[in-house]
Amino acid sequence: MYQVVIIGAGPVGGRLATELSSRGISTLMIEEHAEIGRPFQCAGLVNPPAMQMVGLEETILQNVDGALIHSPSGIMVPVGRDGRVRTHVVCRKKFDQAVVAQAMEAGAHLWLLSKPLNAEVVKDGVNLKIEREGEIVDLKCNLLIGADGAHSWTRRYFKMGRPKEMMIGFQADVSGLSGKDNWLEMYTGRDIAPGLFAWVIPTGNNTHRIGVWARPQDLDGRSVEECYDSLINHPLWKERFAKAREIARYCGPVPCGVIRKPFKDRVMVIGDAAGMAKPTTGGGIGPGFRQVEAIIDKLVKAVNKDKLDASNLSSICKPFKAFRKEQDRARALRDLLVTIPDDEELDSHFRMFNRPEVLDLINAEGDIEHPVPLGMTLLRRVPEFRKLAVKAGFKLLFA
Ligand SMILES: Cc1cc2nc3c(=O)[nH]c(=O)nc-3n(C[C@H](O)[C@H](O)[C@H](O)COP(=O)(O)OP(=O)(O)OC[C@H]3O[C@@H](n4cnc5c(N)ncnc54)[C@H](O)[C@@H]3O)c2cc1C
Repeated sequence: MYQVVIIGAGPVGGRLATELSSRGISTLMIEEHAEIGRPFQCAGLVNPPAMQMVGLEETILQNVDGALIHSPSGIMVPVGRDGRVRTHVVCRKKFDQAVVAQAMEAGAHLWLLSKPLNAEVVKDGVNLKIEREGEIVDLKCNLLIGADGAHSWTRRYFKMGRPKEMMIGFQADVSGLSGKDNWLEMYTGRDIAPGLFAWVIPTGNNTHRIGVWARPQDLDGRSVEECYDSLINHPLWKERFAKAREIARYCGPVPCGVIRKPFKDRVMVIGDAAGMAKPTTGGGIGPGFRQVEAIIDKLVKAVNKDKLDASNLSSICKPFKAFRKEQDRARALRDLLVTIPDDEELDSHFRMFNRPEVLDLINAEGDIEHPVPLGMTLLRRVPEFRKLAVKAGFKLLFA
């Protein structure tokens, strides 16, 4: 008998288990793999606020001060300033393991090689059948939480719906590339990353992560792996990638769009399972941590009083509505400025971004965590963007 059972010991499950256990709630994490942090599908970017929450600076491979963003025809816009850290690149395996270790230090239990087979909600709890290292174990908890990632078993088992968008990400770890150590690069264009962008992220010791993400409907029957091949063989960039030697390749989903009801009686989902990744960057660690922070106090009270039916959980999960709204607004602006435009229009946007006064604006107001205020400022203050402002107004109104 545990008060809370969390399915999934990824960063969000681990973070939630730390917060629950350190407040005296008996918590068990159930993880299907033999090891935490493997297999990983992530570029490893963790923003400073999320890093501050866990204080795991020892997992940082590289700090990043800015991004060199390339238009389809090769116009380069530098965003950021040397010496001002915008984000960290972590070793995801070490990061996930350290987050879960914090939970265990706080008193949470962890079962590896374990997964749920069945869950039945009864009046006083949730009866679970867990397969643990090949054996079936019966378990009971007051609250079941799915932090089990993009294809969440919990979300599917309790028929909670699907996140609005499910992007596909592909990435290769490489050695042999050169470039500025503390700047990442982004590449755009229909051939390379239709509707979104590709990235090159420095990971220290002359290694990089090269990746692409896209919405399935923009791929026109191609795979994201083919988009990656288009990037490294593109006439504009093939010289840049000629010396890259691949160490590993992996692919994974990115769910963006918090589901409408991430809860049922005595059950809820969080993190990627709830669709919490950002539609503008695909980042899900920081947003998942924010979700935990937003609900933890009320959640602990409800667990202690055993007030965990759908209406109580609905009130606890109220902040998720604001997160969904934020995602919708960010998606609307992303669509307008990046996803819908063809390569020619994207190039013309880059020409505007590259003007000194616009770059100053971007560097002064740009916040990767909150892109909507910057987008709105650009639409208001850059004369050439004003024709988009009316469209943006409508999109934001209906977002
Ligand atoms: C190519 C790519 C690049 C990305 N880059 C970034 C980035 O740079 N920065 C960023 O913030 N985000 C990035 N993301 C997104 C990020 O990886 C996720 O948002 C983040 O891992 C979500 O954490 P989570 O704990 O919710 O889920 P997950 O990390 O998916 O963890 C879920 C855990 O649950 C376990 N699990 C699943 N099902 C079961 C089950 N039935 N039983 C038991 N255990 C189960 C899994 O094994 C896993 O350990 C990227 C994603 C992709 C695909």
